[in-house]
Amino acid sequence: MTQLVDNNDNVYTRQRLRGFPWLRFEPALEQEYRELNYQGFQRTRNGSALLLMVALLGFLALDVWYGYTAHFPPASFFAIGARLATVLFTCLGYRKVRQQSQVAAGQRWVVAVLGVTCVSSITMMLLYARYHSEFQLPLLLDAVILLFITVLFPVGLSVHVAMAMALLIALASWSLTPWVAGDLLDQQFAAFMPFQVSSLVALLALRYYHERSFRTLFLLRGSLHAMASTDALTGLYNRRAFEMLGRRALAQATREAQLCALMLVDVDHFKRYNDLHGHPAGDRALQAIASRLGRFPRRPLDLAARLGGEEFVLLFAGVDRDFAARIGDEVRAAVQALGIAIDSDGTPLTVSVGVALGIPGCDPDELYQRADQAMYKAKREGRNRVCVGV
Ligand code: GH3
Ligand code: MG
Ligand code: MG
Repeated sequence: MTQLVDNNDNVYTRQRLRGFPWLRFEPALEQEYRELNYQGFQRTRNGSALLLMVALLGFLALDVWYGYTAHFPPASFFAIGARLATVLFTCLGYRKVRQQSQVAAGQRWVVAVLGVTCVSSITMMLLYARYHSEFQLPLLLDAVILLFITVLFPVGLSVHVAMAMALLIALASWSLTPWVAGDLLDQQFAAFMPFQVSSLVALLALRYYHERSFRTLFLLRGSLHAMASTDALTGLYNRRAFEMLGRRALAQATREAQLCALMLVDVDHFKRYNDLHGHPAGDRALQAIASRLGRFPRRPLDLAARLGGEEFVLLFAGVDRDFAARIGDEVRAAVQALGIAIDSDGTPLTVSVGVALGIPGCDPDELYQRADQAMYKAKREGRNRVCVGV
């Protein structure tokens, strides 16, 4: 049996086997994960923003109520004003997050909104603690748990930022509250501490395992995708991947007003090679040819694929007419230079190549058809040659 390519050997599987205890992938994968994750959480994020707004308005109503019952001391006006400012900033941040198409900028606004909410909530808590005798209120430490939930809720924020924010909230509230409230509230504070600590630990653990599962799913999805896009014999893209990536590359080239070259490569008299040397040798010859063809794509949109049998396709984006005329013969000569002998006199395996030039906006199917016709013309004209489609 011919040795097949290890389809499962891809960046996703390698990362999964290496593990990621610190919830971080290698840089390129990390970037891809964050983008997908950020987009995936769009609905949750919208829902959370709405909940946050409702919660803030609820607090605003309480501020007004406390003010009313305490005959509006100056501290009350400050509280109402600051809360109102937080509501307005949250509205602005929500708009900004929705408008941002860039992940990093969107995340900065998420952090900004959550940061402002936290700072204002803690300030308010301290304010009520400071003037607690005027308002006749118990210490409002339970708001801290609400803040933990807010920043640890999965809204597409990286787990490291979320954890850092949760720890900052804990440190700020635990160190500042006794300082502001003095010994008046010692007992309440001490009684409430275990609840805060246990809820923080539970939320951190949940957030960690939640993100771990998400990352594992991302890696599994990635390796499945890679496996489904690869040709098992040669390791090049398969036909399915070519259909998808090729159309995407053509659309991108159209957007950038670039020319493309599509090239069909068919091995000459391959049936004869199989008949003379057997199928396993034929497979190895295909692997050698594929490996050589796989070195031609250079730019991000270029690609090489095995369409099936002994037929390959190459796509180059952002080319000029000279390149399109030249590259076909380079490919042809490179395969011939492999020197895979067909018979005892050493005649090497060759390929017939059909090239078609695609202008921006061209129809992918029509481009493929032109390259195909050019390839058949090369066959008719004697093989081991290149024809450029009109
Ligand atoms: P032409 O120059 O006209 O292209 O002739 P050809 O013999 O290459 O074309 P034909 O279509 O008649 O035969 C293609 C051969 O490719 C037939 C088939 O046995 C062989 N083939 C297709 N897929 C594989 C494969 O995966 N492994 C091997 N060893 N052979 C394959
Ligand atoms: Mg063929
Ligand atoms: Mg052939």
